Amino acid sequence: MIVILNKNITKKQKSSIISFLENKGLKVKEIIGQEDTILGAVGTSGLDIREVAQLEGVSSVVPISKPYKLASRELKKEDTIVQVGNVKIGGNRIAIMAGPCAVESEEQIMSIAKEVRDSGAVILRGGAFKPRTSPYSFQGLKEEGLKYLRKAGDTYGMPVTTEVVSPSDVEMMTKYIDMFQIGARNMQNFELLKAVGATGMPVLLKRGISATIEEWLMAAEYLMASGTDQIVLCERGIRTYETATRNTLDVSAIPVAQKLTHLPVIGDPSHATGIRALVNPMSLAIIASGASGLIVEVHNHPEEALSDGAQSLYPSQFEKLMRDIQTMAPVVGKSLERIPRIIPTTIKDGEIVQDKIDSLKISFQGERGAFSELACRRTFDENCKVIPLKEFSDVFESVMKRESDYGVIPIENTLGGTINDNIDNLINYPDITVVGEQHIRVIHNLIVIPGTKIEDIKKVYSHPQGLAQCDKYLKSKLSSAEIVPFFDTAGAVAFIKKQNDPSLAAIAGAPAAAYHNMEILEAGIESHPSNYTRFYVISRSERIAEFVSASKINKASMVFSVTHQAGSLFEALAILSEFGLNMKKLESRPIEGKPWEYSFFVETELNDKDNFEKACEKMKTTCSSFRVLGKFHSTN
Ligand code: PEP
Ligand code: MN
Repeated sequence: MIVILNKNITKKQKSSIISFLENKGLKVKEIIGQEDTILGAVGTSGLDIREVAQLEGVSSVVPISKPYKLASRELKKEDTIVQVGNVKIGGNRIAIMAGPCAVESEEQIMSIAKEVRDSGAVILRGGAFKPRTSPYSFQGLKEEGLKYLRKAGDTYGMPVTTEVVSPSDVEMMTKYIDMFQIGARNMQNFELLKAVGATGMPVLLKRGISATIEEWLMAAEYLMASGTDQIVLCERGIRTYETATRNTLDVSAIPVAQKLTHLPVIGDPSHATGIRALVNPMSLAIIASGASGLIVEVHNHPEEALSDGAQSLYPSQFEKLMRDIQTMAPVVGKSLERIPRIIPTTIKDGEIVQDKIDSLKISFQGERGAFSELACRRTFDENCKVIPLKEFSDVFESVMKRESDYGVIPIENTLGGTINDNIDNLINYPDITVVGEQHIRVIHNLIVIPGTKIEDIKKVYSHPQGLAQCDKYLKSKLSSAEIVPFFDTAGAVAFIKKQNDPSLAAIAGAPAAAYHNMEILEAGIESHPSNYTRFYVISRSERIAEFVSASKINKASMVFSVTHQAGSLFEALAILSEFGLNMKKLESRPIEGKPWEYSFFVETELNDKDNFEKACEKMKTTCSSFRVLGKFHSTN
């Protein structure tokens, strides 16, 4: 059952509810959500839920209808984010695990680890215990293989996962690995599930060869009931009558499972197909279906592989796949984990110190649920503390006054163009630096009070940009409704909720609907689907954003002004060209108080640090003012 607690419950009330449930023989798990705190209580007790509903501090009690309880979405609405070493899986991320089917030698795993890491894999796979159909096939290097896998993971900064086949190996394996893999053949090996679950460590749970989705989730329930909630489900193809492929990829199982469980679901295109040429297209199908990632077999010499060579990608094919996924990620509203998230750091007494993400405050302009809030969460963490502010300049002020550590501001939209207010803010706040960039695909939705029908709608509210971007839909489906411009998209949702009038609708992003518990009547109603907004992450100059590696910094932005003379702008731009800095964007902004004089905002590629520094030195002497706004990692 799910016990929803009162918002103002005391600690004492909560602990007496927990002991009451535990004394009845139930396992209790506390889940702190964005809105409510709930207790999940599972077990075999025949306790009447009405008894629980009467306890002090309980708001309501809901039974869980599914046979899997802890794994069920009914118990936990928010996505679980599984943490494997420093990698997070789930939510809006796509995490790619890659490596050979089996660890064959130290040299082999070291070389493949480097290749897949360079292409952007974040977790290294490699079997050391191989459950083969034939007893005469290679069975794996066992503990020796685990040592090589660990060494490769440590050398290339990747957590490692490998398959466990026997409960008696579990303890030994915990010394070497970051995530257990339960293979398809063992999905219903309940003793193995119990032993692995009891370690509390992350588990990659493959779907059994002929398991239904419910049986798969029941296997996850076994793991959870035994002590871990860090589970990633993996669809890897099921047995059907089709013989053209090794298994049949059940791609629809991915969204089905994601609806039923809060646990992240990934896909394995290698075992699903058994054929190298099918790995790329099926990987894209898996990502398109909304999966949180992939586990892919890659081998440096697949033709010599001791197992599964025919389905293993060459490293160059894996690189191509990663590029394809990177292009596709924003289309499904996700970001690839290869893009280094900002690792927030501060310079304290000359030393670079890493900040704790949970303690950071990030400000944005807009109402809760705005696209800017989504950009904050995607850049930092789903759970980062956000501060919604009214104006763009409030974000700059808040960062300057140390009320927030970072700000996230839109710079450009692919349909609406440059957001000049923010270019001006960057010029006017000299102590602000740009430390990162984020791209969000803007998907608009028609949002209503739950239960509203399209024919009830008489007025539609949204930001003028939101209304303009959905004009085709409005003209064809809501031609008689009045169109009302509002100052902000998420604010329009808050407004219609407050009015509680089913004749009103709003156009905004899905997070705004979720935040206000409103219904999306129609999703993706924008006229042009290639609608992206680019954001800058800003901070004070003592804060810097360190990326996974400094070599990832590939873009710079700057502002300068030139004397009012013929050829002076040309002269400045010639410096950028002289030092090979490819210009990505150029804007001019009027200088306040100096009619007909302009500041220029420029973004350039930054591939050669030395050349960049030299160009800056020359710009300083040539321009009447020059400032680098920031150097950061960009994905376009
Ligand atoms: C594997 O990942 O190498 C493997 C054996 O997978 P599955 O259990 O899905 O067959
Ligand atoms: Mn394999």
